[in-house]
Amino acid sequence: MKRLLLAGGGHAHVHVLTALAREPLPGVEVLLVTPFARQMYSGMLPGWVAGHYGEDQIVIPLPALALAAGVQLIDGRIAGLDANARRATLADGRVIDYDLLSLDTGPVMDRDAIPGAREHALFLRPVEHFVRLFETLLARALAEPLDLAVVGAGAGGVEIALALAWRLQREGAATRVSLVAGADGPLAGFAEGVRQPVLRALQRHRVTLLPHTCTAIEAGRLTLSNGTRLACDVPLLAVGTSAPPWLQGSGLALDECGFVATGATLQSTSHPEVFAAGDVATRMDAPHPKSGVYAVRAGPPLALNLRRALAGGALQPYMPQARTLYLLSTGRRHAVASWGPWATSGRWVWWWKDRIDRGFIRRYGGSA
Ligand SMILES: Cc1cc2nc3c(=O)[nH]c(=O)nc-3n(C[C@H](O)[C@H](O)[C@H](O)COP(=O)(O)OP(=O)(O)OC[C@H]3O[C@@H](n4cnc5c(N)ncnc54)[C@H](O)[C@@H]3O)c2cc1C
Repeated sequence: MKRLLLAGGGHAHVHVLTALAREPLPGVEVLLVTPFARQMYSGMLPGWVAGHYGEDQIVIPLPALALAAGVQLIDGRIAGLDANARRATLADGRVIDYDLLSLDTGPVMDRDAIPGAREHALFLRPVEHFVRLFETLLARALAEPLDLAVVGAGAGGVEIALALAWRLQREGAATRVSLVAGADGPLAGFAEGVRQPVLRALQRHRVTLLPHTCTAIEAGRLTLSNGTRLACDVPLLAVGTSAPPWLQGSGLALDECGFVATGATLQSTSHPEVFAAGDVATRMDAPHPKSGVYAVRAGPPLALNLRRALAGGALQPYMPQARTLYLLSTGRRHAVASWGPWATSGRWVWWWKDRIDRGFIRRYGGSA
């Protein structure tokens, strides 16, 4: 019997699971390795922080999806890979051999990117850990005045800073929220039509914008690139993500940042029996930004090509969209939409985003 190993229950793999439930793969043993039984939907995380959603509304329950698909769920984390031997090793030492491997484990955050971060900062990823620690942060913020700084002002950092500021103000917490945004400011690379309403929202939510980077973190303070020391009780790191370290030495071809190099059929460019989708992969032939939207879109072609690879059929090339819709929430029930240079914002955009996000969760068995 052939074995298909699915690593990670990310955005593309939840689709693979539903496709397997609809049409099982006869004569194939399918395993899903995941460190968490739930896939927390990052698109709704800022809405959860803001208090618009309950925790159960932003999760996809992986055990139910796996059960329906006839897939064996393995509670674990891939910690090593030998692509030449077709063997994955889990963090607890268990070894899993495979005939076909599909990677959708997402990226990781480098805990040592800023000196002191590992010891003193709260990281946005893994999202499951962030969610657990956020409850403690909230309780503390309600009990005492806090200085809170979000480090990193990409889309995730901006949304979380706004959601935090909105939630804490609404709950009456005497918390100051700062956003360490770097010299380019928030949302560098986004259209002005997106940046302007976001800058207004940051002002309205009284988020202090700091045009510096963070160079060091100690207990109770941050050091910024201009030498300033910033009082900070809780640094929340939303700085860029990186490739999982276990890919190094796996034998797989990687891009210059260490992500799995893939081609048009979502196969590794070095090992055709390895597929990868979502943020862990880089399309060498058609580079695109790493985002949840691209990870979701890769689900159907991935499911199709895994099936064909197991059946010995011809694989289908997949061309990702040149641009995607980006919906960014701004704390209260308000959001900004962008599509390339086009942008718009308003309460109606939030309801539009809410509808899309809830639809995504429900499609995969969640209860949004
Ligand atoms: C606050 C925030 C808001 C965001 N909002 C948006 C948005 O609105 N739109 C958008 O397009 N993008 C958004 N993003 C980006 C988006 O989250 C990522 O691009 C997306 O999660 C990538 O999906 P993925 O399937 O590759 O990985 P993930 O969603 O990270 O899923 C990977 C899964 O693999 C599991 N896993 C991790 N390591 C291992 C391992 N070693 N072994 C086994 N399993 C493992 C994880 O637990 C997880 O379940 C946001 C990000 C953040 C932080």
